[in-house]
Amino acid sequence: MEQTFIMIKPDGVQRGLVGEIISRFEKKGFTLKGLKLLTVEQSFAEKHYEDLSKKPFFPGLVQYIISGPVVAMIWEGKGVVVTGRKIIGATNPSASEPGTIRGDFAIDVGRNVIHGSDSVESANKEIGLWFPEGPTNWQSSLHPWIYE
Ligand code: UDP
Ligand code: MG
Repeated sequence: MEQTFIMIKPDGVQRGLVGEIISRFEKKGFTLKGLKLLTVEQSFAEKHYEDLSKKPFFPGLVQYIISGPVVAMIWEGKGVVVTGRKIIGATNPSASEPGTIRGDFAIDVGRNVIHGSDSVESANKEIGLWFPEGPTNWQSSLHPWIYE
């Protein structure tokens, strides 16, 4: 089953949005397969965002991500990478639809509350970086009530 990496950024943690965000993924029917609250170092944040290292916003982005604890998660389910991105909304909250996490809870692109992997390939890479121990192995008993 497909998995994605979702991270509640420091502003989401500070603003008390952890429960709300987890709830949206849970209620959709996705399964939580990894969860931790941690503060990362600059070199780790640079590694996570290495594809963006040439962008002018990169230094500010790294400072933002290391500014406080983040909630790192693995979510599992059919189509979770693409659907997870839809639940999150467009990168710039000014373009995020109401009903999405960024559309409902954010205003500026540099304080957009949450990260989600943009492809299955980057999901696998990001899960490997953030969860070297791998996902927690369990099966939700809701499975037959969510999948036909
Ligand atoms: N970002 C920013 N300014 C920009 C574009 C992006 O500060 O002009 C930040 C923003 O926090 C975004 C992150 O960099 O979530 C990663 O950018 P990406 O294009 O990968 O967007 P995402 O995948 O998070 O939607
Ligand atoms: Mg991205």
